[in-house]
Amino acid sequence: MQLHDTRTRSTSTFVPAATVRLYVCGITPYDSAHLGHAFTYTVFDVLIRHLEAKGHRVRYVRNVTDLDDDILRTAAARDVNFEVLARTEAAAFDTNLRRLGLRDADVIPYATETVPAMIPMVQGLLDRELAYQLPDGRVYADTGQMEGFLSFSRLDRETALEQFAEKGGDPDAAGKNDPLDFLLWQPSAPGEPGWVTPWGDPSITGRPGWHLECSVMAMEHLGNVIDIHGGGNDLIFPHHEAEILQSEGLTGQGPFAGVWMHVGMVALEDVKMSKSLGNLVFLGDLLDRYSPWAVRHLLLRNHYRSGWTYTEESMMASAEAAAALESAPAGDAGRADALRDAVAKRLDDDLDTPAALALIDDAVADGDGDAARRAAELLGYAA
Ligand code: ZN
Repeated sequence: MQLHDTRTRSTSTFVPAATVRLYVCGITPYDSAHLGHAFTYTVFDVLIRHLEAKGHRVRYVRNVTDLDDDILRTAAARDVNFEVLARTEAAAFDTNLRRLGLRDADVIPYATETVPAMIPMVQGLLDRELAYQLPDGRVYADTGQMEGFLSFSRLDRETALEQFAEKGGDPDAAGKNDPLDFLLWQPSAPGEPGWVTPWGDPSITGRPGWHLECSVMAMEHLGNVIDIHGGGNDLIFPHHEAEILQSEGLTGQGPFAGVWMHVGMVALEDVKMSKSLGNLVFLGDLLDRYSPWAVRHLLLRNHYRSGWTYTEESMMASAEAAAALESAPAGDAGRADALRDAVAKRLDDDLDTPAALALIDDAVADGDGDAARRAAELLGYAA
């Protein structure tokens, strides 16, 4: 099949191994799943179904970032233990993904569980002089020493600095070699979880940086190099750029991921949905009102690489299309195999779900309900 790779900015043939190793960046669980999450994970659900329908196995790892500034801040504000908060929200999130009919990940690693594997990684980067430590317990990646910094995101330095600051980097922190050096390890504040490290002052406990967490969780469960790494396109920089630099820098093996797949952002009234802006459409609310297939139809009528805007009208249109699929008469069942093949062919073309859905909707319009429903299974339809 053809897949677009963010790293090369080109679409080329992806030859899947017998078992495809897939890592998708998971959630930071301190709030409910919204449509942006649903879009990202539904895209990878379709990819998995498609690969499995072609006879491959997929080992799917989706992490839970249960250890970061947002979780700790929210837990403190709500006066709950951060692990209780994370586990509760992650369980609610998984429930909604299952309601939507998404296949479970094979492994759902939690950052807190993987810290023992993160410590040797930081030590390894220090040993290779790709990282440096400050007396207060911070350890930074030394981006000036890392080959190809900014070649993944292809950002100019000024834009990189802007995005770095916006996304919680710390360009102005004292003691850094370069403002864009990213945090690998930081001292824990009083009351925060902390781990003892083999480097630095033994009285200072610390915790990992976010980028490091994903590299280690991917490598722990899938190996030093993986086939496909995915996530929202807001993660390209600095998160995924950092993952590549530190993973390849440590192991000397690469590319860290054969293909990088990035999913577009969902907006509401033309503004990207985000927790900080509060302009969210929650997946659970939509599933209370519409069938799983109606919500899938809404999501998959957009190509995964495009951003799109949610409107009530588009939801209604997808609800109508879903009802039409359910109620379409059996029609010409002899058409089923050809339609399934045609839909699979569209998915082979960089997961062109809008074209695949159009074929299904056309078959419904022609009154060939059985063929349409069978083909729709490739996109996750369940009767
Ligand atoms: Zn990640």
